[in-house]
Amino acid sequence: MKSNCKYIFVTGGVTSSLGKGIFAASLARLLQGHGFRVTIQKFDPYINVDPGTLNPYEHGECYVTEDGAETDLDLGHYERFLNVETSQSNNVTTGAVYQTVINKERAGDYLGKTVQVIPHITDELQRRMLLLGEDGKYDIVITEIGGTVGDIESFPFVEAVRQLKWKLGSTRCITIHLTLVPYLASAKELKTKPTQHSVKMLLESGLQADILVCRTEYPLTKDIRRKLALFCNVNINAVIEAIDVETIYDVPLSLLKEGIDDIVLSKLRLPRNGEPDLTSWKAFLSKLKNPTHTVKIALVGKYVELQDAYKSILESFTHAGAANECNVEVISLQSDHITENNVASKLKDMDGVLVAPGFGDRGIEGKISAIKYIREQKIPFFGICLGMQCSVIEFARNVLKLKGAHSSEMDPKTKYPVIDLMEDQKNISEMGGTMRLGAYDCRLYKKTRVYDVYRSTNISERHRHRYEFNNAYLKDFEANGMMAVGVNPQQNLVEIVELKDHPWFLGVQFHPELKSTVEKPHPLFVAFVQAAIRKHEER
Ligand code: GLN
Repeated sequence: MKSNCKYIFVTGGVTSSLGKGIFAASLARLLQGHGFRVTIQKFDPYINVDPGTLNPYEHGECYVTEDGAETDLDLGHYERFLNVETSQSNNVTTGAVYQTVINKERAGDYLGKTVQVIPHITDELQRRMLLLGEDGKYDIVITEIGGTVGDIESFPFVEAVRQLKWKLGSTRCITIHLTLVPYLASAKELKTKPTQHSVKMLLESGLQADILVCRTEYPLTKDIRRKLALFCNVNINAVIEAIDVETIYDVPLSLLKEGIDDIVLSKLRLPRNGEPDLTSWKAFLSKLKNPTHTVKIALVGKYVELQDAYKSILESFTHAGAANECNVEVISLQSDHITENNVASKLKDMDGVLVAPGFGDRGIEGKISAIKYIREQKIPFFGICLGMQCSVIEFARNVLKLKGAHSSEMDPKTKYPVIDLMEDQKNISEMGGTMRLGAYDCRLYKKTRVYDVYRSTNISERHRHRYEFNNAYLKDFEANGMMAVGVNPQQNLVEIVELKDHPWFLGVQFHPELKSTVEKPHPLFVAFVQAAIRKHEER
């Protein structure tokens, strides 16, 4: 093991949804504030090779990295909190690990040996756990283990961590167990038993938690802390309270109060020079909590009942809201409930409307009706990926009068495929794997709204889609006021459309929400919120 990188593993007990991702990101932010170079990775026990094929209802949004990996949404939190990019290597699933091992077996690499969970799967897990720490880019790698300790599918992960801890030693590798201390209203008491049991379950697999982080609705008393310390073999100062807070962005400060950075640094024998630098974080929080305006923005999408499906968009509004000292009230609207008849009543009070990305045809006509209304009523519009494609379809149908215009994704037989596959994609599509994924360049034309926003002609944004604006119709669109203002220079693909006679109408083929962070709110979201503020002030 060449590098001196330190490793922190975060496991979860008692129940899922404890916020391990937010915890890991918050701890990482504190350590970053102490001057360390930190990254976070997520190990998921499910068998899908990556979450790209998962329905958002199953697992929330699929987050795409610069290098085009389709990953767990927790990677979004890591990037938003740390302002450091993640990559394919930051997300590993059981499926990906098995795939590697099986491929090696087929290639004869195991020289006739029986291939087994231990050692072959656990060795591959360890190899990947160490990978990011090996090239000297990071001082600390935090690994979040998905799932809950005790699940059948988590065992190889826990075993891999156990072996690594033994190999690396206790000053290079620690485990933090995130658990729940529930409050029983009838007894008016916080209960420690579930935590005791889950720590014991970890111990049965040979893994001792070094730090316990307890999710709780009420403060942990000294007595409770003492009890947990005694029964779980941890020091009392390593029993950390993680009390419910107003926003996820409060978590780093609440953990700081508990001194978690002190404990982690001393266990890993890392120097601590004073308080962590959280100046920009605190400035963000203070703006977030003291808004001077409020706007209402509708989020029109197919999966709005599940907030996690649009996680990055919602967080981008939080960042852009804070940047404008504005409280952005996001009103989620289910696209398949919107019709020509009810659209006015749903959208008339909105200061802006964002039409969300998505796949498949459910709710498409609702999105198109919404866009027609917004275009005509001059309400600020922001269309992302499928949202942009819908704005193109709407314009084709209602302004260019191309009756039945559509995307060939929804209507392969449409007479006017204004959104279509590229010619060379049509051949690949038979073999599958046609998505445009990850970062691509985009050239912006000057004297456009979008150029004013980015103040640059060359930008790069992340993609996740198959279909494209069909350039055969470009002239017609531009002659009627829908302008292609951003184009991919290598393939001449339309990446951004803008309406001429509209206060703020922008559709982007890429996903700006994937690049918005606390430190760097995305300029398009910042500008969209500004447009909404102007709309609000006009009312
Ligand atoms: N379904 C569309 C496509 O594949 C849009 C995808 C998206 O919104 N991410 O092109």
